[in-house]
Amino acid sequence: MSETTTKGLIVTIDGPSGAGKSTVARMLAKALHYTYIDTGAMYRGVAVAYAKAGKPGDLEGFLKELDIEFDFRGDTSVTLHGEDISGRIREPEISLLASNLSQNRVVREYLWAIQREMGKKGGIVLEGRDTGSVVFPDAEVKFYLDADLSERARRRHLELASKGAAPDSVTVETEMAERDRNDSGRDIAPLVIPEGAVRVDTSGIDAKQVTDIMLRHISGKGRKG
Ligand code: C5P
Repeated sequence: MSETTTKGLIVTIDGPSGAGKSTVARMLAKALHYTYIDTGAMYRGVAVAYAKAGKPGDLEGFLKELDIEFDFRGDTSVTLHGEDISGRIREPEISLLASNLSQNRVVREYLWAIQREMGKKGGIVLEGRDTGSVVFPDAEVKFYLDADLSERARRRHLELASKGAAPDSVTVETEMAERDRNDSGRDIAPLVIPEGAVRVDTSGIDAKQVTDIMLRHISGKGRKG
C-alpha cells in the first residue's frame, strides 16, 4: 500500500477488554506510520488521579483542578501533576475504577474534548469503547474487535502474569464480565458496534493475522478513495 493513499485517515478500533485491541492498534499504527491513541489509558489516568485525590464527590471540581498529560508519541505516557503514572494506570483495581468513572458524563466529556483535539488532523489509530460511535462517528475506517469471554480472560491473565501481577484466572474472568456489563449497559456512550464498522472476531487468530485483515481493508478503502 502506498503511504499517500492512507495519509491522514482516522482509524477507530472498539471492542470489549481483552479482544486484542491494544496490540493490534499498536501494530496497525506502526505499519501505517500513524499515532496510536489508547483512550483506555486516558480513563485509567483519570481513575488514578481520582483515587489519589481520595475519590472526591465533586467530579466537576476535581476535573477542573486536574493537571494530567497524555503523550502518545512513543510508548503511552501519562503524567499527573508532573509525576509519571504510566505504570500505575495498569494496576487491576484501576481497571474497575476506570470502568465505573467512565459511566459519568462529565468525565467522558472531559476526555472526548482531548481525544477530538488530538485526532482532528488524522493519521491516527484510536482504540477504545466509543471511538467509532461517539468520538469520531465520521472516521473513514472503523473496526470492532471481539472474542469469546474465556479467550479474552485468558489473554488478560497472561498479560498480567507477564507483569508479575496476576490474580487467578477465575477472578480475571469475573472482573472482565463485570466490566463488560458496565461498558455495554451504561446510558452514556455504551460499547456498541459502531455504524459502518468492520467486525473482526479475534478468537483463535493472532495479532499479526488480525492486523493483516485490517490492513487489507484499509488498502481497499485507499484504492476506492
Ligand atoms: O481499554 P481499557 O481496559 O484500558 O479501558 C479501561 C476502561 O475505560 C474500560 O473498561 C472502559 O470502561 C473505559 N473506557 C471507555 N471508553 C473508552 C476507553 C475506555 O469507557 N473509549
